[in-house]
Amino acid sequence: MIFLMRRLCVHTITTKPLSLEDCLVQFPQRGVSGITIWRQALEGRNLGTVARQVRDAGLEVVSLCRGGFFPATTPAGRQTAIDDNLKAIEQAHAIGAPLIVLVCGAVPGQSLVESRKQIAEGIAAVLPAAEQAGVKLAIEPLHPMYADDRSAVNTMRQAHEICDALGSPIAVGIAVDVYHVWWDPELKAQIDLAGQTGRLHAFHICDWKTPTTDFLNDRGLMGEGCINIKQISDWVDATGFTGHREVEIFSNKWWSVDQNEFLDQIASTYARLYS
Ligand code: ZN
Repeated sequence: MIFLMRRLCVHTITTKPLSLEDCLVQFPQRGVSGITIWRQALEGRNLGTVARQVRDAGLEVVSLCRGGFFPATTPAGRQTAIDDNLKAIEQAHAIGAPLIVLVCGAVPGQSLVESRKQIAEGIAAVLPAAEQAGVKLAIEPLHPMYADDRSAVNTMRQAHEICDALGSPIAVGIAVDVYHVWWDPELKAQIDLAGQTGRLHAFHICDWKTPTTDFLNDRGLMGEGCINIKQISDWVDATGFTGHREVEIFSNKWWSVDQNEFLDQIASTYARLYS
């Protein structure tokens, strides 16, 4: 069982009603070995203390969520985004997170091509600080339904193109989230390419429900929807990826139930999926 669960990571946003302290107690009790910390969970906290608390809980910090949101219609707006990402790099370094997930951003009314250019420029601007801090950056392609205001990067191909445009720095890779890319006919080939280029930095799991009643907050627990999670996991593993499988679920439904029972379900569902 311990071997089975050694790659299970849960995002703090998945159990949003729990405090960080509760996560640090409840996650290990289910055999969860990794935690991805959302920045709102850090507000008002001493980051050195958080790093120690996580270590004491026996959890590995898998990543910090999230940076990005680089595009803006004004230079001042783009600089604000760069400053915020520099702050995220400092936070990641302080809590011992080796990776920051980038939700890259988009601006309604601005062309996606222009937004992607600004995303590449934004990443380039923060890359030296990330490299110096030993923190990697993962571009997370988002489902095209978010192309208006959350991300102009909607496929793994586009994420690869940004990595290429940056000169393929080791620090910049891709976060594969099944919710966002499961539909992509190129998915296997792009995962293979991510493996070959050393860009497969993170793997997020949840499910796509039918019908989806809320574009943001109606993600499913694995098995509740139509994504062939095991198939995609096998493609990811076939590249040599041995990192955590991160359960990232935004769900008004699941946030409204007892979070301890929800965590029990996450653990048992995960165990069934990967046994
Ligand atoms: Zn994700």
